Amino acid sequence: MSDTIEKVKCLIIGSGPAGYTAAIYAARANMAPVLYQGMQPGGQLTTTNEVENFPGYPEGITGPDMMIQLQDQAKRFGTDIRDGWVTKVDFSGSIHKIWVNETQEIHAETVIISTGASAKYLGLPSEQKYLQLGGGVSACAVCDGFFYRNQEVVIVGAGDSACEEAHYLSKLCKKVTMLVRRDEFRASKIMANRVKKTENIEILFNTETEEVLGDGQVVTGVKVKNNQTNEFKEIPATGFFVAIGHKPNTDIFKDFLELDETGYIINKPGSSKTNIDGVFVSGDAADHVYRQAITAAGTGCMAALDAERYLASKDVEVEA
Ligand code: NDP
Repeated sequence: MSDTIEKVKCLIIGSGPAGYTAAIYAARANMAPVLYQGMQPGGQLTTTNEVENFPGYPEGITGPDMMIQLQDQAKRFGTDIRDGWVTKVDFSGSIHKIWVNETQEIHAETVIISTGASAKYLGLPSEQKYLQLGGGVSACAVCDGFFYRNQEVVIVGAGDSACEEAHYLSKLCKKVTMLVRRDEFRASKIMANRVKKTENIEILFNTETEEVLGDGQVVTGVKVKNNQTNEFKEIPATGFFVAIGHKPNTDIFKDFLELDETGYIINKPGSSKTNIDGVFVSGDAADHVYRQAITAAGTGCMAALDAERYLASKDVEVEA
């Protein structure tokens, strides 16, 4: 353990659009924010190719480039951006304690959590290969569906997300094949029915992904297996969408913060406040519904403003 405890006004954990936007606002409000980037600097967007739906980029921008720009903007106003992984927290007192890389202890007056969520993938080597290559595997239909206009795609999953994304894709693509591993949907009836009624969505029940096929650069199809008949089949497709859920990156907070049953942090409605005074949340760590860069950025701004107001109210208490 380090002997010296660092004291900061505002500690931001996570470096996606939520964390960087919180940093821009906090730095401009003289809160001298310190931001820890975590394992995946830039967050989920660094695994996306082209971002075309973030206002202000009429020509689009790649996810990694956009994150560099947000980082530069946060640095320009004095954010102290550091490599490091927050491994433990203690939010039991009025000063919030945070440990980085198990060793460095930091005491923060305010904490903004922007640790995001991670899309779950099947874990097949072929899926991971085309994901890394940016060759046609995606976990976000709203982000990437546009690139598959008038093409044939496959989507795996049977929850509300998969239904919503399949329906979204059906409006852009020639054909959407949906792979459901059981003989029924997990999604709500209304969502499942909407998918069933959509003409260009074909649903294959009892069907699992065996391999994502490709030419070494891009996806060309998907080999699937019927788990009842053990029959294999190849489906031509240029895009493979995975919609089997997300996991919020909130494990280290579970002893102190209220989480929902999936692990998303529960924020007070209409604000970024958590159940602990001085601890705020922004981005996908608290959002299983919208999950967009622009909504994450918006809640990052809210968190910085809420943190600033919290500090101001404490100053008033001290003066009184
Ligand atoms: P869910 O956990 O609800 O569903 C995940 C789906 O993926 C399940 O159907 C599951 O299958 C399937 N799955 C998991 N692992 C695999 C695998 N290895 N191979 C094949 N299929 C797999 O996640 P969602 O993201 O859909 O939803 C999360 C929460 O967000 C839910 O509460 C949902 O209601 C909510 N939501 C609400 C929306 C809305 O109201 N507009 C939109 C989107 C989400 P199985 O069923 O066999 O376990």
